[in-house]
Amino acid sequence: MGNKVSTLEENLAKFVGIKHAIACSSGTDALILALMAIDIQPGDEIITTPFTFIATAETIAFLGAKPVFVYIDAKTFNIAPSLIEEKITSKTKAIMPVSLFGQISDMDKINEIAKVHDLKVIEDAAQSFGAEYKGKKSCSLSNLACTSFFPAKPLGCYGDGGAVFTNDDDLANKLRIILNHGQTKRYVHSHIGINGRLDSIQAGILNVKLKYYTEEIIKREQIAQKYNNELKNITTPYIFPNSLSVWAQYCILVEDRDAVLSKCSNNNIPTGVYYPIPLHLQEVFEYLGYKEGDFPITEKISKNIMALPMSAFLTEEEQNYIIEVVNE
Ligand SMILES: *Cc1c(COP(=O)(O)O)cnc(C)c1O
Repeated sequence: MGNKVSTLEENLAKFVGIKHAIACSSGTDALILALMAIDIQPGDEIITTPFTFIATAETIAFLGAKPVFVYIDAKTFNIAPSLIEEKITSKTKAIMPVSLFGQISDMDKINEIAKVHDLKVIEDAAQSFGAEYKGKKSCSLSNLACTSFFPAKPLGCYGDGGAVFTNDDDLANKLRIILNHGQTKRYVHSHIGINGRLDSIQAGILNVKLKYYTEEIIKREQIAQKYNNELKNITTPYIFPNSLSVWAQYCILVEDRDAVLSKCSNNNIPTGVYYPIPLHLQEVFEYLGYKEGDFPITEKISKNIMALPMSAFLTEEEQNYIIEVVNE
């Protein structure tokens, strides 16, 4: 928590266009801190998507609250706002949309529902730092937003790191207290907290990398466009109008995924599957009582999805080779 961390917080807030950025130890801790800041208690319900990395629902469950899953949109793979309302109960406290693969959810609709039902919105923006929705940046569109600087994310440090964003002064103050053991003054504690501090060395790295990040986002977009244009007979990603993805993953849908994965691997092209098991079917969430068939779109996508290499440093020659092999 040295001065590099406070400089980073200023840089992040300015980049996003929000009042407060609070740096912390990881994306997972950012989610825990955000949930703690709004006093999530055992038994509370948080509405989220089953098609995401485990941390989204894990942090909800970690605090004893209940993740309540909603259908996803078949094109964007993000939570379907029109199906949120029917899942709201007297126990619902917040909606946690995930900006999956670098694309922000339909936040206007989500915020509208939240307002009507007096709920908080927490954007899980672990994959979307720098993305845009109707001219606004990811992490500036909700009561609270959480990002990750894990090395594999679009803006990565050299270890673990994350941040929470808010426009609310009281929440910002509380987050700062909670991330340092609930400490208000040295050895004076007002809240139950965690050790969620960011190391100065990671902040130093991020302060440098942030200077080049806008350029990297432009390059990632160019690479995505080239894939979109040159991949044939494949379902390429759908991006919402008026939006900019940061392409945390470039994911395609293929019917014969195993064949495409092994063709790529035989030709030394690294691929990934995000995510092979939706959260409602994970063993750890058996107690929630979901079963196969509850989320057919999610389940189908999890069987057909695969990611191709995506980085601002992918060369044209490398990308041409990838496209040729995948098209074959
Ligand atoms: C990576 C990720 C997280 C967790 O971030 P860490 O920094 O790895 O703890 C949370 N949610 C989503 C959607 C992620 O992709």
